[in-house]
Amino acid sequence: MATLEIRDLHVSVEADNSSKEILKGVDLTVKQGETHAIMGPNGSGKSTLAYSIAGHPKYTITSGTVTLDGEDVLAMSVDERARAGMFLAMQYPVEVPGVSVSNFLRTSATAIRGEAPKLRTWVKEVKTAMETLQMDPAFAERNVNEGFSGGEKKRHEILQLELLKPKIAILDETDSGLDVDALRQVSEGVNRVHASGEVGTLLITHYTRILRYIKPDFVHVFAKGRIVASGGPELADKLEAEGYEEYTKGAPVSG
Ligand code: ADP
Ligand code: MG
Ligand code: MG
Repeated sequence: MATLEIRDLHVSVEADNSSKEILKGVDLTVKQGETHAIMGPNGSGKSTLAYSIAGHPKYTITSGTVTLDGEDVLAMSVDERARAGMFLAMQYPVEVPGVSVSNFLRTSATAIRGEAPKLRTWVKEVKTAMETLQMDPAFAERNVNEGFSGGEKKRHEILQLELLKPKIAILDETDSGLDVDALRQVSEGVNRVHASGEVGTLLITHYTRILRYIKPDFVHVFAKGRIVASGGPELADKLEAEGYEEYTKGAPVSG
């Protein structure tokens, strides 16, 4: 079983000619087959964590490690991270002009599987996955993220997730901006992938509502650049009832 290990991760971002430390010692282990939710207030550094693992050039790792089965993820190119089995869906996905969804998916699958999927079975795979997500078949011919609505972007992320079957998936605010139906479909996709037992998911979110549809095995509270509490699904219920205040006021929370 593949294991993603984040150890004492410190990350700074350059802004206005100065460097500001955003992540202040993140520790987390995610294994294939597990679903982890990271929940925390806006501005606490959740997206910074996702971008840092993805290798976004804006974020400088000042200390700490990220490994996948002992391999140094931070030393890998973005392509190598994907080939190693990491899937990173960003809060603000980029447009890829001139590349259709269907070509993009096949290229990604080829990179990850090490060989191009047979066209016939591939077309069927994509069709089935799209039907399951209640996506219009015409969507496959559109350019990646070009003019996608919020809901289409998120469905596209889940489509990738289902077709590419990564070892570790990081989903940043996959629930934001979705109406109830889209939220349910996206959640069902995450649950199907979880049920396969092959994918470890790190679900990053500000809102507790997605956790009505997805039951994480572990819930972590993220505040001020680090994980300040961890528990089971009951921790999400507590957050829904009480909010983040306990974790954000005053001096840094220990533990
Ligand atoms: P969250 O996802 O929890 O809302 P972020 O990781 O987006 O938090 O942001 C954490 C902090 O880092 C914020 O103060 C934000 O302004 C700052 N930050 C994040 N990314 C950048 C960036 N690219 N440039 C400048 N500041 C940034
Ligand atoms: Mg934010
Ligand atoms: Mg964010």
